Amino acid sequence: MFTLITLPYAAEALAPAISAETLSFHHGKHLQTYVNNLNAALPEGDTRSLEEMVCLGEGGVRNNAGQILNHNLYFTQLRAPRENNRPAGRLAEAISREFGSFEAFQEAFNKAAATLFGSGWAWLSADVDGRLVITQEPNAGNPIQKGLKPLLTFDVWEHAYYLDYQNRRPDHLKALWSIIDWDVVASRYR
Ligand code: MN
Repeated sequence: MFTLITLPYAAEALAPAISAETLSFHHGKHLQTYVNNLNAALPEGDTRSLEEMVCLGEGGVRNNAGQILNHNLYFTQLRAPRENNRPAGRLAEAISREFGSFEAFQEAFNKAAATLFGSGWAWLSADVDGRLVITQEPNAGNPIQKGLKPLLTFDVWEHAYYLDYQNRRPDHLKALWSIIDWDVVASRYR
């Protein structure tokens, strides 16, 4: 049995980037439904991890496990808005090395998130050599399916932003940069 993660912040903590209403629907309804669907689909005594189901599972098990894993990574990398919010240390150095600057990285990541057709996720991941890579994963996709280590993700399913931004996905993407918890993202980079 899988359970809904508890958010490490209050529902209104991410405003104005993400409203309390969006957060409560996104976490309490959408993610809860993926958890319920996966539990209903699993045979009794199934001990596979989410990662195993995402890489080796099929159909609804793979999709619902993927959405749970993706949302757990997404929600736990957020915190209250900060001015001039950017990474530090080893991750910041790797971003500059790979993309030229933090601003150039943001531009490339925004482009990946904005141009992903339909529903899915934009990701920053590390490959086996620690090199950084940006990918677009449709629907419930996760970079672990390609042997990558996921570090940062933007959810571009409409349910992630429609109540606050309607069709203005780029405005939502811009706001997300103010609420990324770079300490969490950096802790995934090792
Ligand atoms: Mn979502």
